[in-house]
Amino acid sequence: MLIAKTVDGRLVKAFDDDINGMEYYCPVCLGPVRFKKGAIKTWHFAHLSTQNCQFNFENESAEHLSLKAKMFTSLSQNYPVEIEKYLSKYQQIADIFVAPKLVLEVQCSPISAQKLQERTRSYQSQGLYPIWLFGEKLWLKKRLSAFQRSVLSYSDWIGFYFWELDNAKEELRLHYLIHEKLNGELVYLTKSCSFSGNIMALLRFPFQKKKVVRLTCSCMADPQTFIQKQLFYKNPKWLREQELAYQRGENLLMQETDFFFPQIKPPQINYQNYPKPEKIERYFKQFESYYKNQRLKTSQTLYPPLFYDKMIEKQTRRMK
Ligand SMILES: [Zn+2]
Repeated sequence: MLIAKTVDGRLVKAFDDDINGMEYYCPVCLGPVRFKKGAIKTWHFAHLSTQNCQFNFENESAEHLSLKAKMFTSLSQNYPVEIEKYLSKYQQIADIFVAPKLVLEVQCSPISAQKLQERTRSYQSQGLYPIWLFGEKLWLKKRLSAFQRSVLSYSDWIGFYFWELDNAKEELRLHYLIHEKLNGELVYLTKSCSFSGNIMALLRFPFQKKKVVRLTCSCMADPQTFIQKQLFYKNPKWLREQELAYQRGENLLMQETDFFFPQIKPPQINYQNYPKPEKIERYFKQFESYYKNQRLKTSQTLYPPLFYDKMIEKQTRRMK
């Protein structure tokens, strides 16, 4: 942990306050803590005994300590920030709290998606707005992991998005307009901001009114051969797709290339977990119907949900 209480009840920070030989205590359990001034990890405090503390601060990685300290330092120049803020009513510790209601959670180690959703709902029930920023182990790779698929964020302005913190480069990254190709590979746009820059501006980006962002990708020329291989190797996703096709009296391998258009789609997620599931359900429907009438099918230009909404509205008006 990065903060401790002094005998006279002041809170001090291990990484930028003047720490002397005084006695320090855990702000939550009030048990004695020791100041640790090492060469590798960010300077921090550690319990002498963790027995009576409900919070397991002791397994914090060097990456987690360092990122928390750096985010705090970056934001504290312009905003009322608190680090490791203890919310006693719900017995939660917010890594970074920016008054009045923003909570930044720095997540570096694997956690279950369910636990993350529980913590999110708990913050929301307190009127707080949590944002999860992920460390290196959880960064996006070529394809979505099951965990990432369950924790993607959504906005009408930029579609599905995901935050990354880079301790080595000292930057915050936003991957947005995330889509999956037919073979599961990800495509997305990225914006980054150095910790010395205006991090808050990037954190607000998903909800700001802006020009329509777009991303053009080429489509697979021969999806049938790809699908044939997947069926041969018994890829569960494609076995299921073929099964559904059979139920409709179709066979995927007998279809024309255009049948598979749009090839690039928003990630398949369980929208029931989102605050407004009906919005995302509508977006998925509008997405399909927008591309259905498109003539050029060798590439796809992807847009945010608001765009499809406006386009469909226009079409409906024209038909009346
Ligand atoms: Zn404690």
